Amino acid sequence: MIKRLRDLSIRRKLIAMLLFTNAVVLALVSAAFVVNEANRFRSEMQTELTALAEIIGNNSSAAVAFNDRQAAGETLAALRAKPYIRTALIVMQDDTVLVRYLAPGSPAHPLPFAVVAGDRVSIDPLRFRDALQRSRSPLAIGEDIYGVHRILLDGQQIGTVVLQSDPREFTDRLVRFFILVTGVMLSALLLVYFLATRLQRLISVPITHLAQVIEAVSAEKNYSMRAEKQGNDELGTLIEGFNEMLVQIQRRDQQLEAQRQELEGEVQRRTAQLSAANRELSQTIAELVVSKDAAEAASLAKSQFLANMSHEIRTPMNGVLGMTRVLLESGLAGEQRRFAEAVWNSGESLLSIINDILDFSKIEAGRMELEPAPFDLHDILGGVLEMFAAVAQRKGVDISLHLDPGLPRYVVGDAVRLRQVLVNLLGNAVKFTSRGEVRLTALPLAEQGEGWIKFEVTDTGIGIRPEAQAHIFESFSQADYSTTRTFGGTGLGLAISRQLALLMEGELGLASEFGVGSTFWFSVRLEVLKEVPECLVQQSAPQEGGAKPCFDALVLVAEDNPVNQDVVRHMLGQLCCRVDIVANGELAVAASAEGKYHLVFMDCQMPHMDGFAATRAIRAREEGEGGRRLPVVALTANALTGDRELCLAAGMDDYLSKPFDCRQLAEVLLRWIPERATNYPDSGTASQHDAGAAGQAAGQAAAQVGGTERQSSPQKGEQQGEQQGDAPERDASEGKIPVFDRDGLIQRLGDAEFVEMFVEKYLESTDKLMKLLRQAVEAEDYAEVRLHAHSIKGAAASIGAEVMRAVAFRMEESAQLEQERSGLPELFRELEQVLADFRAVAAPV
Ligand code: ADP
Repeated sequence: MIKRLRDLSIRRKLIAMLLFTNAVVLALVSAAFVVNEANRFRSEMQTELTALAEIIGNNSSAAVAFNDRQAAGETLAALRAKPYIRTALIVMQDDTVLVRYLAPGSPAHPLPFAVVAGDRVSIDPLRFRDALQRSRSPLAIGEDIYGVHRILLDGQQIGTVVLQSDPREFTDRLVRFFILVTGVMLSALLLVYFLATRLQRLISVPITHLAQVIEAVSAEKNYSMRAEKQGNDELGTLIEGFNEMLVQIQRRDQQLEAQRQELEGEVQRRTAQLSAANRELSQTIAELVVSKDAAEAASLAKSQFLANMSHEIRTPMNGVLGMTRVLLESGLAGEQRRFAEAVWNSGESLLSIINDILDFSKIEAGRMELEPAPFDLHDILGGVLEMFAAVAQRKGVDISLHLDPGLPRYVVGDAVRLRQVLVNLLGNAVKFTSRGEVRLTALPLAEQGEGWIKFEVTDTGIGIRPEAQAHIFESFSQADYSTTRTFGGTGLGLAISRQLALLMEGELGLASEFGVGSTFWFSVRLEVLKEVPECLVQQSAPQEGGAKPCFDALVLVAEDNPVNQDVVRHMLGQLCCRVDIVANGELAVAASAEGKYHLVFMDCQMPHMDGFAATRAIRAREEGEGGRRLPVVALTANALTGDRELCLAAGMDDYLSKPFDCRQLAEVLLRWIPERATNYPDSGTASQHDAGAAGQAAGQAAAQVGGTERQSSPQKGEQQGEQQGDAPERDASEGKIPVFDRDGLIQRLGDAEFVEMFVEKYLESTDKLMKLLRQAVEAEDYAEVRLHAHSIKGAAASIGAEVMRAVAFRMEESAQLEQERSGLPELFRELEQVLADFRAVAAPV
């Protein structure tokens, strides 16, 4: 209800309020009037009744005194003229009713205080008094009205007249009055409504107007609107306040608009500035990208250049070293020999520096990749230590290896790179230590997991100043420049080592005290093998004269003679190499193009394309592609003076005269692919640090293969030259040479196991060649004769059929010289005889 009232419009509310207020006031006033009027009527009627009672009392006092009911009755009968008198009683002093009058037609209305007993009616004085009292109360609107008068005789009461009026008279008058009052009240309310509908406008009109303006302002957001003030009352003040508020809002709006516009302008200005800055930034970024690309390209170009330069330098260096070897093998003596040896040693040092630069540029260009393979870790560590044993001993420095009992032995990893780091650290330790000791320790890092191994190289050398420790790992950096003068070096070793350690998932660090010593350590992760891997079984078997060298290398052999193919395959197998064999130069050029070989052994004389032409083709291709220079080693059966020069001129790096042995093969491999050696104590990067030590180490290694002492390599070359050059001819003529040099063959092969098999193969292939040779001799096709005689000679040299070789050699020579050709049939018969002799001596029974 109240809610509904609240939701009414102000206009209605005002009308309602006025109506309600007026109604209440009028109702109250009317009620007061009605009550007042009722009381007045009542008292008027009472007075009238009392007066009437008095008259009746006076008239009936005699009748009462004589107890004359009839007379009294007649007196009362006069009341018929007053129809509103309902009942009249004359009561005696003893409270008995003398006479009773009942208005005709009115129902017998027993008086509340009358007590009827048979004919006798009496009144109960108590109840009578009570009824009288109640009827006199101002609120006794509905009560009967009584008129009472005492009948006196001689001043003494003898009876009482009681008149009871019908209250209808009273209520009729009251109803009439009430209707009048109600009518007046309704008219008043009508008037009020009429006035209210007009007067409420004084309040509701300005409020409604204000509400409409507010609505319009909020709908249109038009703050320039104003409410019209209609008076100076509170509403006027309210409207004024509202208008003032609008003024302020409008002003604020204008200010805001101005600020917004200013801001917009500012934003536009800033946006323009930002766009300009952005453009500049984009341009700078683009320029930076270009610069970065250029820098990267330059860096790559630098690395590429370094790598290429290193290759480029290596090629002439190989020439210098090769020619120096030739020079040393040419029988130099005295001072000239010393000078040549100095050139050799310097060349080796230079090559090691170039190798460092090559490694470094490979790492920088991100081209350094690990080549994991199974290897014997203990062997590698022992080998590395061995390598520096002699130098340390010469300097009076103790050198020792400590292997933790938990250190795994057979692991998979890049043995070449692991050894490179070890050699570098141990090389430095030995280099910078003049007394005390150098110690190499290897231990598993169990807490980091299986396969994690830590290597420590501790020395009691010169130590490194704290300020130098931070930067010695930077490339080309040394502790101080006096180091370069005193000890030499490039400052690349540690940088390369750290990168290699990182490549092997580990790290490299150092702890050093200046003047006391240093500990360089590095960690790597290797795969641990539970069993000895198949490829290491052969190596790990104990061998006479120490461990055989082993190379993790893929070697290509270009050789047409099946016997030679088998022999060289066997020998290289003994050195752990993987071997691919092709039968001519053309195939060798094609195979080498795959880029997977570490080295090529190239027979010089082959059908279709000889070794010289093949090597020239390989070098030409390398030049065109700018790729890695593949070491090519000639296998020559001639060993004539000038042959070696021919080999080098064709682009070959080295040569081996047939028959060569396992030791010579190992030497060549060590010289050209030292980084592929896996258990060779003196191989790898030894020469990078101490060319002399490496040379010596190479000697030791070679000694281990053959089990004999070896002098320097040039001297050996000299011996070979002498023996393999003119010697066969001379010795054959003197009949000193054996039909089958079995011991020589066993020594070359490295074991006696397969001798019979090789002999059988030799005989088989030589029989075929003999047939071809016979046809060529008979047909007097001297070129063919030369070719087949050469093949027979090469195979004979490999197998140790010394007399065969000598006779085949003579046939090859005779086929070249016109005046000698007539003797060829005779020589062929001799060859047949010698072959029969060989078969008799060598063939398995
Ligand atoms: P370098 O070819 O000059 O030996 P490295 O990178 O191997 O190049 O070593 C950098 C420098 O770190 C060395 O020149 C030397 O000053 C210092 N250094 C390395 N190892 C040791 C060591 N064991 N004791 C003292 N100084 C060392």
